[in-house]
Amino acid sequence: MIDRRDVLEEQIHRWIRPELQKLSAYPVPDASGLTKLDAMENPFEFPEELHRAWFERLAEQARINRYPHPEAPALKSALRAVMKIDERWEVLLGNGSDELIQMIAMAVKGTGRTIMAPEPSFVLYRMVATFLGLDYVGVPLTRDFELDLEAMLHKIEREQPAIVFLAQPNNPTGNLWGDEKLRRIIEAAPGLVVLDEAYTAFTDADYLNWLDDYPNLLVMRTLSKVGLAGLRLGVLVGDAAWCEQINKVRLPYNINSLTQVTARFALDHFSVFEQQTRELVKQRERLIESLRQLSGLSVFDSEANFVLVRTEPGQAARIHQALIEQGVLIKKLDGSHPLLADCLRITVSSEMENGQCLAALRQVLAQH
Ligand SMILES: *Cc1c(COP(=O)(O)O)cnc(C)c1O
Repeated sequence: MIDRRDVLEEQIHRWIRPELQKLSAYPVPDASGLTKLDAMENPFEFPEELHRAWFERLAEQARINRYPHPEAPALKSALRAVMKIDERWEVLLGNGSDELIQMIAMAVKGTGRTIMAPEPSFVLYRMVATFLGLDYVGVPLTRDFELDLEAMLHKIEREQPAIVFLAQPNNPTGNLWGDEKLRRIIEAAPGLVVLDEAYTAFTDADYLNWLDDYPNLLVMRTLSKVGLAGLRLGVLVGDAAWCEQINKVRLPYNINSLTQVTARFALDHFSVFEQQTRELVKQRERLIESLRQLSGLSVFDSEANFVLVRTEPGQAARIHQALIEQGVLIKKLDGSHPLLADCLRITVSSEMENGQCLAALRQVLAQH
């Protein structure tokens, strides 16, 4: 009898793309029972007093026997109003901005086409390039995580990237690279530049009005980091000419009915989320201050809802694991990029959860 496993192994080896066979899927660690400070989620729940109105809205408007509206016009208008997106610009929605990254890449895909991003930055840029068979060029940041403008301009000139992704504030470093450098890059880029503003709620920096200056610019946002990560809703803003093309690779009905209705409801009550993000910004400053009082850590400034820290050499994995044993899950970045050696990333949370994390860290650092 032919062994089923042998057949599968042979067929997978034969048919699955070789570069894919070598990869592993995006790792999401099990956080059950842990204080979850690894994924930049907003810790605050949707207020209970809004639950009933929300459920009524869902019962009334989410007709789940039907396909959702393919263009979600009502949701787009609500987003335009809250995000102050001018009528001049088109809005494209994605199942999270992750999907928008994929759609933009699919729209330019072709032999010899390159995606470029400073590194370390958001890992999806590289992942999506790999999935689609596009070339990927990561340009290292400086040792203190500033943008290396000369290196960037040099690589742009040499590689002629179809897309440059710039996350501002950058994940996982938390910083902004400064308007002057960004402008130089947008001006030098032969193709699209996508400014990824996933953390816009936590900073005063805002590049939406740069769309006027640069026809090759797109601005991307998401509702994930402000308290709606479960909805999966990303927003791409830019010239209608680009959006019309990118829209062609969007799968029909990519924004489901429950997301459309719930996001609209949330946008009607957006002051709730704005208040929560203001609180998180306040907590961020307190967390940074407290972390700086711990010996054995260097703490980077942050314009986002997370803080990057560097441990003493060789300590990151031990500290990360010991924190899990203390019930706190943060992100280990050590090992993911040479510049991130000994680095950990802590999501800013409520006063209570930050306190838990600090107490655990104090204990773990003392054990050394
Ligand atoms: C979290 C994050 C995203 C992904 O957002 P989703 O909308 O949840 O897919 C995009 N860009 C950056 C830089 C991020 O950190």
